[in-house]
Order: sequence, then C-alpha cells, then structure tokens
Amino acid sequence: MAERFEAAADHLGLDPGVRDVLRTPDRELTVAIPISMDDGSLRVFKGYRVQHNFLRGPCKGGIRFAPDVHLDEVRALAAWMTWKCSVVGIPFGGAKGGVVCNPRELSISELERITRRYTTSIMDILGPDRDVPAPDMNTNEQTMAWIMDTYSMHHRRTSTAVVTGKPLNLGGSRGRPEATGRGVMISCREALKTLGMRPEDTSVVVQGSGNVGGIGALLLHREGYKVLSLSDIYGSIYNEDGLDIPAVLAWIQKHRRLDGYEEAEHLPNEGQLEIECDVLVPAATENQITSENVDRIKARVIVEGANGPTTAAADKVLEDRGVVVVPDILANAGGVTVSYFEWVQDRMGYFWTEEIVNSRLEQTMVNSFEEVHTTAKKYDVSLRSAAYILAIDRVVSVYRMRGIFA
Ligand code: GLU
Repeated sequence: MAERFEAAADHLGLDPGVRDVLRTPDRELTVAIPISMDDGSLRVFKGYRVQHNFLRGPCKGGIRFAPDVHLDEVRALAAWMTWKCSVVGIPFGGAKGGVVCNPRELSISELERITRRYTTSIMDILGPDRDVPAPDMNTNEQTMAWIMDTYSMHHRRTSTAVVTGKPLNLGGSRGRPEATGRGVMISCREALKTLGMRPEDTSVVVQGSGNVGGIGALLLHREGYKVLSLSDIYGSIYNEDGLDIPAVLAWIQKHRRLDGYEEAEHLPNEGQLEIECDVLVPAATENQITSENVDRIKARVIVEGANGPTTAAADKVLEDRGVVVVPDILANAGGVTVSYFEWVQDRMGYFWTEEIVNSRLEQTMVNSFEEVHTTAKKYDVSLRSAAYILAIDRVVSVYRMRGIFA
C-alpha cells in the first residue's frame, strides 16, 4: 500500500509535504467496549475508527468485526477507502472501523450490545456530513440498523443517512446487497474486453463465497462464465465443468458453509488460488497472493474483490508476467458507489428503482474502468498504478484549491 502510494506520487511529481498530508490519517479513535455477556460475566472489547481523509467529502467506509483486526490494518483500509471513493468519483473521503471480536462465538444480543456501545463511543465523529459507516467483514444489514437506531436515539430524530447498507425498509437502497459483486462482474467484463476474451470461453476461480465472492460468482455465472471453484473459511469446492452457482448459494444459505455440497470435489483452501483458470477473483481478505504463491498462480486476469488481496511484492511479479490485475480500489468499488446512492436517496427521502440503481452503477463502473485504462496507457503503467495516479491526483487538486485551514 505504502509502495503503491509512493510510486503514484512519483509519477505525479508530488512534493514531500503533500505526500505527508496524504499519508497521515486525519483522526484515529480507539475505544473500549465493556459488555455484559449472556452468562453474566463482563468483558471489554476494543474498537477502532480511523478517518483517513475528508477533503472530497464526508468520510466513508465499512466496519469489520474480526478477532485479529488491528489498528494498522484499519489505518490501511481507511486510506484505501479514500483512493477508492476518488477513483470512482464519488464525493467522499475514506474511513474504516473495526471491533476486535469473534462474531461466531457471540450471541445476537451480545453482538447488538457491542454494536450499540461501539456506536455510542465513536458517535462524536459520526454523522451524515462527517463519517458514514457501512458493512464490511462480519457485519451486515442488521448491524447497520442497530448503528442507525443508536445514533438516531441519541439525536432524538431518525437519521437514516448516518450509515449505509441498511435494510430496505429502514432507508436502504435497492441493489446495495449485490452492488460489490455487480461491480466485480462489470470490472471483469471490461477487463476481458480489452484482451479480446469472451465470457463464454472464460473460466473463473473465486476465493470466498460471501457478499462479494458469492454474489460476484452468481452474476459471473449468469453472464456465461464457467465458475470452477468457490471457498469459505473451512475449505473450497471445485467442479471442472463449472459449478451450479445458484445451487451452491442455496446450499450456503441453508447450511452456512460449503461443507457437504455434493456436486463438487472438496479441497483444502491451500492451493485454491493456484487452480488452472483464466480469471481469479480473490474476494475474501488481505494478503492472499504473496511472493510465496504468486509463481504458482495461473490466471491471466485477476479481479480483486477483496481489499488488499495482493501484496506489493507479488504485484511486481504479476506485472512482469503480464497478468492483468484489476485493482481492489476499482474492482470492488461497486459497494461504496451504491452506498453513495443510498446516502443520496436517504437525504432526498426519495427512493430509486433497482433498474435506476443498477444502471447508474453500471455507468460509474464502466466510466471509471475506462478512465483507469486510459491513464494506464498514458503513463505506461499497470491498472493498479493508474488507479492510484487518478485517485491521488483528484484528492491533490481539491487540496490545492481548498488550501490549508490554519
Ligand atoms: N466495506 C465496503 C468496502 O470496503 C463498503 C464501504 C462503504 O460502502 O462505505 O468498500
């Protein structure tokens, strides 16, 4: 991440002072979340919210619940959100939140208490014009509903635009649950067009099977791609003739995991990314394609559904080998784009049809891909470097016009 920022800053000839401004998160909050557990014991969880930059608008970014989430990670993810919002031209800065907990070991009511107390503790820096959270790993519509309610109760009015990714009947947007997967599908299609590849001749391996991977796989399957493999945290499934994705998703819906699904071979997760395929979609978590496994990866195209799935060292190897990588800040920006649409709808109090949401998302993703692709040609760099150049340049131009408040 740091390497990518510096490389793009070099291309743009940014001076050290401006780099320093853009590198430094605007605000970092660490909070203690004391919770009375269902068994009567008391436990203290830790929560973070990092606001990286708000030059282009209110901060925006998800909240993840994970046992290993840490401040450095949240910091990096917050900066990614700044560049992601900028690359697709939506008027937000970047933020990210995290709560150190294992949702698999918590009851619904414990999760609710954690969410409400965390929201209360970071509430001074939240708000529709300040910082607007959204779902991320292990958080969902229900989590967002609790955040909205907690914020609203403190403010004595219902404030739906304080958070996105809400349920439809609480000010959510049509198309939001599918938006990240849809963006992945659109970026994949646009990348293949530049290579003269056709969906019906293209095989895909997806790491993950959740909101990004599962829905991304479904939309790719509907477009005619052959999806060979999906995974979850316990293992992966493989079918050389292509998986029946609707059936796999119905299985997951019912059983919460891939284990036991019959129409596929079951394999361990190690090696899944190395399966012979045309397109690889890492849609799980950070640091999955590394210098350790990159030499065994066979895909010609990588579409990053997750944030930060490829390390900088692995990226260099892929670039030298001519593998086309559609970078995370572009490929998975469909989610935050429809979050923006949700925020706009909440503020208008007027809700759009799914067709309108999807066609505006389509337009944003196609235009953004085109801009990144043109920038890549102009500077003779990878799509990743181009996305950073474009994103950083937009933030810098706003910074120069706004000037420094002192
Ligand atoms: N957590 C998602 C992301 O990483 C969505 C963020 C949002 O919608 O604000 O892009």
